[in-house]
Amino acid sequence: MGYAHYEIIRNGRTIEAGYAVEAVCEEAGCKAKIDRGLAYLCGKHPGGDERGCGGYFCEQHLYGDNQCKRCSDVADKANAWIHPETGEEFDLRDQLLPAGSSYDGRGIVWRHTGNWQREVPLVEPVYAHSQVPAPGAARMLTEGEWEDVARIIHRQLRTA
Ligand SMILES: [Zn+2]
Ligand SMILES: [Zn+2]
Repeated sequence: MGYAHYEIIRNGRTIEAGYAVEAVCEEAGCKAKIDRGLAYLCGKHPGGDERGCGGYFCEQHLYGDNQCKRCSDVADKANAWIHPETGEEFDLRDQLLPAGSSYDGRGIVWRHTGNWQREVPLVEPVYAHSQVPAPGAARMLTEGEWEDVARIIHRQLRTA
């Protein structure tokens, strides 16, 4: 029992799932042997959820945050925000720091938590290591310049 083998309802049909259930990647034309465990699932919950379609895909056909190509494209679009004045495109899943800052894993980063003000996404401070809210007021993404933490880390590694 447990996660090895269970039944779920997907698109109105009952299917067998779990890591003990052998399967083939559901990407068209791909024959990779996988199983129906959570590692190969698009989304987080078997059967599909708001993040994924509930399909099972090989490593090559799962992208980003464990999503198939189609679900990952939808998520990219839903999380894209374009600054109306500068035209700069933001991915609202990114962690940000004010431009020119250096990253400290024990410090604070800024993250969009779903709140908006006058159609501008708000970013709020969280502790980098735990993602727990840190003291400080939310700021609008149009207030000052922001940089993607991943890019800052990349720069720090190169110049270290
Ligand atoms: Zn999917
Ligand atoms: Zn595949």
